[in-house]
Amino acid sequence: QAKHMGRFLWQRFTPSMQQELHRKLTLKQFLAKAIGRGELSLVYQPKVDLARGIIDSCEALLRWHNPVLGQVSPAEFIPLAEEMGLIREIGAWVLCSALSQQARWRERLGVEVPLAVNLSGMQITAELPDWVAQQLAAHAIAPHLLTLELTETVLMLDVRGSSQVLEALGQLGIRISIDDFGTGYSSLAYLNRLPINEIKLDRSFVVGFNLPVIRATVAMASSLGIDLIAEGVETEEELTALRRQGCHRIQGYLISRPMAAADLELNGFVIDSCIGSFTLAKQ
Ligand code: C2E
Ligand code: MG
Ligand code: MG
Ligand code: MG
Repeated sequence: QAKHMGRFLWQRFTPSMQQELHRKLTLKQFLAKAIGRGELSLVYQPKVDLARGIIDSCEALLRWHNPVLGQVSPAEFIPLAEEMGLIREIGAWVLCSALSQQARWRERLGVEVPLAVNLSGMQITAELPDWVAQQLAAHAIAPHLLTLELTETVLMLDVRGSSQVLEALGQLGIRISIDDFGTGYSSLAYLNRLPINEIKLDRSFVVGFNLPVIRATVAMASSLGIDLIAEGVETEEELTALRRQGCHRIQGYLISRPMAAADLELNGFVIDSCIGSFTLAKQ
């Protein structure tokens, strides 16, 4: 039996699996020190309202550059940070950095930039609302200038617990957005019951020109009074399809890639895209 198992394991543990495991271990070792070594940074991607012709907010996205590993994608390292129990520390760094940037923009340039920050499901704890409120107060940022982006799966993990946390965040005036909408196990009930301000239609429906899903989401968002945005818009064809179905807020490479804070400032918060130029909304 053991011999059989041994052979089984040996056969299954392929060189590519070994490489994958090795990379994971290496990433974890470096990730543990990334904050202390100043290897993390944020980039900002505009969310554009085409009907009003403006940038209405920006999404902060995390970047990790390590001298040995180079640039590592958050899609790769966020799950590792979750496994390691490091995500709350990283998440805290992200929120503090985003709020500091917001405060600097206000103080130095006199502009209020509404920001969205992504949250991992593991950050949804009973202490979160008070902690976010403290951070907002420390940076003198009004709650409505902060949106927290969560995925649907977060809401499904622990329906009772997370809904109380969302209620408390909503009470504080913080905005809640459902990221990658349509890819998780959605329940229409929670959209109506919880204080949700925005849904972000997942890029897969945009790329796939899934008109029935786009149309249904537009109708649902509109009847529930929830803002809608389509993510990952890359082409004018996609844009045209979205507009025809009634989706007028978009985010994606067509408008702008995520940008360093300094680059946004340099351009005076004006984005020149191939479909026109967009300015930050006056708050
Ligand atoms: P997300 O929140 O859904 O962010 C959208 C991702 O799509 C970003 O990738 C963005 O750079 C990319 N993107 C934007 N426009 C386009 C486009 O037109 N085409 C394509 N193909 N992609 C586009 P990124 O920055 O690599 O982030 C990947 C994911 O990692 C994010 O997905 C989010 O789930 C997670 N993430 C990023 N930053 C953070 C963070 O600070 N905290 C947490 N918990 N997760 C984060
Ligand atoms: Mg997001
Ligand atoms: Mg998304
Ligand atoms: Mg996505």
